[in-house]
Amino acid sequence: MPLNDDDFMRYSRHLLMDDIGEVGQQRLLEARVLIVGLGGLGCPVALYLAAAGVGQIGLCDPDRVDKTNLQRQVLYRTDDCGSLKVDCAKQTLEALNPGIVVSAFPCKIGKEILTDGYDLVVDCTDNLEARQLMNQACYAQEIPFVSAAAVVWEGQLVAFDFSRFRSICFDCIIDRNSAEPMMNCANSGVVGPVLGIMGSMQATTVIRLLLGYFEQHGEMTRYDGKRGQWLSMHCNRNVGCPTCGSASD
Ligand SMILES: [Zn+2]
Repeated sequence: MPLNDDDFMRYSRHLLMDDIGEVGQQRLLEARVLIVGLGGLGCPVALYLAAAGVGQIGLCDPDRVDKTNLQRQVLYRTDDCGSLKVDCAKQTLEALNPGIVVSAFPCKIGKEILTDGYDLVVDCTDNLEARQLMNQACYAQEIPFVSAAAVVWEGQLVAFDFSRFRSICFDCIIDRNSAEPMMNCANSGVVGPVLGIMGSMQATTVIRLLLGYFEQHGEMTRYDGKRGQWLSMHCNRNVGCPTCGSASD
């Protein structure tokens, strides 16, 4: 669909860029993106993608806003405590950008939602089981998967463009032998803006994937907020991976 007058004003800073322009903005407006988890990562991801004009956004999270969320989950206000996160988020995102469609799923992520025709899935959960489910669904449907995590001062991000590359996936890089219990924000704490940085990186990665500017399939980026340092590394494929182990590329 061609851009209307409101679009030309609203997205003018995209339209000024050679790398986006009208064609790129139309591509964003036609995209369907699923955001799983509306915590410290999901809030900035949802805000930036809605503002950027990603045309259809699915939000999946079973939780209600709790006072302990407000230190970092920037979509919610004190008055929202007790309300479903997906409902608060949908209201805020639609007020931010009435030109997009936001769908709310107040439940745990499942196969029915993951196979509902999305172009891309963003993992903003802190749950390994959910991540594996998303990874498998994205791999099977050959759509991109963008995953991030953050705890204390540290964040990490890894993304896979399964529409182009088949030989490494999230399952390949899980440390199955780790004896350490998983750290998360609820048991170890987190600095709010570290989640903002990682969520903003996820949103940027989504925009790159939708516009065709992504080449870092399976590359992990780590951020150390206490030292202000970044590190990128290639992850190794696991030939025995239950998800992509038989892929040939
Ligand atoms: Zn794999």
